[in-house]
Order: sequence, then C-alpha cells, then structure tokens
Amino acid sequence: MAELSLQHLDKIYDNKVQAVFDFNMDVKDGELIVLVGPSGCGKSTTLRMVAGLEDISRGHLIMDGRDITQTPPKDRDMAMVFQSYALYGHMTVYENMAFSLTLRKENPNVIHKKVMAAAEILGLVPQLNKKPSQLSGGQRQRVAMGRSIVRSPKLFLFDEPLSNLDAKLRGSTRREILLLHKRLSATMMYVTHDQTEALTLADRIVCMSMGHVQQIGTPLELYDSPANLFVAGFIGLPPMNVFDVRVSDGKLVNDVFSTAILPEEKAKLAPYEGKEITLGVRPENIEPHEDGDIPMSVNLNENLGMNTLVHGHVGNSSVRMTGKFKGWCDYKPGDGLYVRFVKRHFFDKETTNAI
Ligand code: ADP
Repeated sequence: MAELSLQHLDKIYDNKVQAVFDFNMDVKDGELIVLVGPSGCGKSTTLRMVAGLEDISRGHLIMDGRDITQTPPKDRDMAMVFQSYALYGHMTVYENMAFSLTLRKENPNVIHKKVMAAAEILGLVPQLNKKPSQLSGGQRQRVAMGRSIVRSPKLFLFDEPLSNLDAKLRGSTRREILLLHKRLSATMMYVTHDQTEALTLADRIVCMSMGHVQQIGTPLELYDSPANLFVAGFIGLPPMNVFDVRVSDGKLVNDVFSTAILPEEKAKLAPYEGKEITLGVRPENIEPHEDGDIPMSVNLNENLGMNTLVHGHVGNSSVRMTGKFKGWCDYKPGDGLYVRFVKRHFFDKETTNAI
C-alpha cells in the first residue's frame, strides 16, 4: 500500500527532447490512476520515472513520505506489468510466478503459499504446470500480473498491458484488472492511449497532451466537465462535435443555425456577447426532434443495436455533425431532419479552455 506524490516532474531526454513538463499530482493509498493521451504525449515516460527506469530531470518523487527520486528501481518496492509479457518460455507458469521470490531466496513454503494465492485470484490454478506457449494471450497477461502480485509490492505499474490482446480479450482482461484492484486494494498507475480503458478503470484519470497534464479528475468529471477542447475531444466516443458560433443577443448563431441561449447558460456567456466561441455537443446529446432548431442532412447510418450513429452535416453546409440516437434508426443518405442539443459545452476560442 502506498501514497505517492509526484512533484513538478520534468523529463528532458539526452537528445534535448522534453517529454514531460511539470507533472504534479498526489496519488492516494489504494487509488487506481490512469494516465491517458495520444501516442507520444509522455505517459510512459512519466510511469518509467516513477518506476526508476528513467532518471527524473527535475522535481521530486515521494512515496509514503520518503523521497525516492534517486532510489534505484529494485529498492522502490514497485512491480511493473508491460505490454509484452516477457515470460520465461522454458519455465512453467508456477516457476514464472515464483521466479522473483526464488531469486530473493524466500522460504519455499512462503513462495508456495504466495504463488497459490495469486493463482487463485487470477484463475490460473489449472494452468500452473503449463508453459507460456500453451496459454492464450489473456492467460499470459494474467501470469505477468501474477508475477507482480506474489511480490506484494507497494505500487503496481501497468504500461499498456492490454494492447497486444484482441478486442474481446481486452474487455475481459480489463474487467479482471478492475476486480483485482478491488480485491487487493492496491495503489496502481496504469498507462493507456484508450479512452474507454481510462473511463472504465480509473478512480482518477490524468489526461495528457504533448508532455503537459491537461486535466486530472474522476472519469465523470472529465466526461461531464472537460477542462479544455483537447480533453473534450479525447474523452468520449465518438468525439464531441464542435461548432463555431457567435454569442448574439440571447442566441448562439452561425451561418447555418441559430439556437437560443438557455437561462442557466446566460451568466457564463455574458462576457462573450458579440464574440466567437466554440460550442461542443456530444453525439449522445443530440436528439432528433420535429421541433428541433438545428437542421441535419444525413450521410451515413450505423446501427449499433441499442443506438444508431447518424453522420452528416448541419443543414446543407460543410459543417460535420454526428449524433448517437437512441434505438434502431434507418436514415438514408440525403435524408433531412431536425435535431436539438440537449447538453452543451462552451470553450473560449483563444485559450480553448472551458467557459
Ligand atoms: P507515450 O507513452 O505517451 O506514447 P512517451 O513517454 O513514450 O509517450 O514519449 C514521449 C516523448 O518522448 C515522445 O516525443 C518520444 O519520442 C520521446 N521519447 C521517449 N523515449 C525517448 C528516449 N529514450 N530518448 C529520446 N526521446 C524519447
């Protein structure tokens, strides 16, 4: 169990590339933190600084009140699970899981107890005598997790652990990690580029872009109140629709639509009277409605079962819009309809920050 404080961490690689800028956060004991963002945004670098696999260029890392900025990885009491499972092919599942404890010359009875307990948690008891080559990808990933669990580390670190698995296994292994987290009540940091993994797993998400933290918050906070346009576009699938509009006399107006500002939106939009802002609307917040004030022309109808993704444009313009409508719809290319926006987000055009 561990509390972790990442204090103003910077990472500048030898080639002068700055991969992380002023990363700041306190991780509570037992929290599952997910670092999410596009490829190259500095997630793995941050995790590797925590693990001690990369030097910290500036800042401090504090675990349970102790400064471990300069502590070598082996003395940090952390376990890392990678995308590639890196299992020993000539060893059985049991031997793979026992390996680190055997190296430490633990008492064989203790080793046996710990391996069996981990195998029980992970449903690996029937596989203990098999070699990794006889296992599925999902089972191999569980062995890799088992290897971490037996060490009872203070902190678990996961670097894209599911990205080698096919879609179905990703879903089930993700749920296993969630159950594992609840069962062990362990502090975990988890890196992924997949916003679904972030939303489903995290107690708190850290959303990053180009080495900078964009927002830290619960999944609901990032989904419901994104701090800026980057987070708004990254969290949520399909991404939020964005429209340029002008705040004008109680309305949001552009060349293709005009929609009333609601009473509860008035105060925050007042300083923007006469100015251009960005209006953001999630596909699931667009509703077809005969009295809707936004015209839509349809390009493509995608049935997902419970919902239908309807892609098209605002009226006859080139402004794209995607709606996620309830139920099974059968729109044809060229169909026209009216929609309304049931929840709206506003962003400052210059700073891209939420208004
Ligand atoms: P992510 O995990 O979000 O995909 P990384 O942390 O791997 O991103 O990389 C962040 C940035 O640092 C990228 O621009 C990457 O090219 C750069 N980078 C990563 N590792 C090194 C390295 N060993 N030397 C130089 N630059 C690196």
